[in-house]
Amino acid sequence: MTFASLGLSDALTRAVAELGYDEPTPVQRAAIPVVLRGGDVQASAKTGSGKTAAFLLPLLEALRARPGGSVRPVRAFILVPTRELAAQIVEAVQQYGRYLKKPLKTCLAVGGVSANPQMLALRGGADIVVATPGRALDLVEQNALRLGQVETLVLDEADRLFSLGFADELNRLLALLPARRQNLLFSATFPPSVRTLAERLLQEPTRIDVDEGELPSADLIVQRAIRVDAPRRTMLLRQLLETHAWSHVLTFVASRYAADHVALKLSRAGIPATSLHGELSQGARTQALADFKAKRVRVLVATDVAARGLDIAGLPAVVNYDLPRSTVDYVHRIGRTGRAGEQGVAISFVSADTEAHFRLIEKRNHFAVAREQVAGFEPTETAAPAAPPLDVNGGVKGRRKSKKDKLREAAAAGHPPKRKP
Ligand code: AMP
Repeated sequence: MTFASLGLSDALTRAVAELGYDEPTPVQRAAIPVVLRGGDVQASAKTGSGKTAAFLLPLLEALRARPGGSVRPVRAFILVPTRELAAQIVEAVQQYGRYLKKPLKTCLAVGGVSANPQMLALRGGADIVVATPGRALDLVEQNALRLGQVETLVLDEADRLFSLGFADELNRLLALLPARRQNLLFSATFPPSVRTLAERLLQEPTRIDVDEGELPSADLIVQRAIRVDAPRRTMLLRQLLETHAWSHVLTFVASRYAADHVALKLSRAGIPATSLHGELSQGARTQALADFKAKRVRVLVATDVAARGLDIAGLPAVVNYDLPRSTVDYVHRIGRTGRAGEQGVAISFVSADTEAHFRLIEKRNHFAVAREQVAGFEPTETAAPAAPPLDVNGGVKGRRKSKKDKLREAAAAGHPPKRKP
């Protein structure tokens, strides 16, 4: 099957061929024809599946085929949970749309940066707007963004829109859209919040379920687990960086404090490293990501919030310095490598205290990884007695959290504990 046989025109097939897309991925095969004929889609697809092109290519095709007039009402509205994902989508529009005879105008509407340039860019309209919810609403309130003529709504990473607390903003935005429109909903997982939204939003949707939340192909990602005492993890990471020729490595930690701390320690040891977390300014986040993608820094130390949805071409290794609290996030994390047919390795550091949690991650995701030890880093710690496994929410099963537990969790999550009212 080819992109042309799915109904895409030359301008688009040429652009994707140049990007090295030999053939459509399963989600693209399933979604492109439906989107082209104007149908609604509910797709279970995670980053790495080719979902962005699955909605963008037919969207660009439809916009190309029905050019707008000189006043450009927003015809496609793409709502996403994070600024990075929004920026990546705009970049993809530019890549896919480069041979279109009449260029499509795409605007980015995201927070963390001044609204003025976005307001200016929106003057005279735009064909496509890629937005995060808060800024989209701000721009609507400022009369800079009008959504009354949207033909297609895309919700990408819908589960994340909820988990990041955007339900209110989402509802307010949906109320501004015309009743008759096409809706495309992409989500890695379908918790009740997303299912309810899908039922409310979608008209006779085509359901696409290509990966069912499974782990990425084992041929592409080698998973490893190294047992190490928690205080020695930075040293072990340094050693791994010395012994492997990885061009760059994405390292996940549990808190912004840990991100800054580990990045600083590596930098001091002469390894170019930087941190990426939600507390950085948008400028700093963009810079960190650009430096990492351009391989000016070798190690990006990131929290889950900042790293979700990142698309880094040819990333050879992911290291779980801290394990993810949620078992689902493990799949998201390791999916940053082994993408688009390239091999990658995902290494998890497991200490006596996190062994039980890693077992839960294995169980929930239906895999098992042999524990390794690295010479010179053999673990000496034993698990604290009576440390039952953490559940998916980071709670401790079978007993109430002590004050200390709460403090520990808050420290790991990088925010102060909630006070009792
Ligand atoms: P996504 O799931 O949209 O984040 O895409 C994951 C990565 O796969 C991106 O780097 C895309 O450029 C790439 N990609 C998307 N579609 C294809 C395809 N048909 N063939 C090869 N690579 C692709």
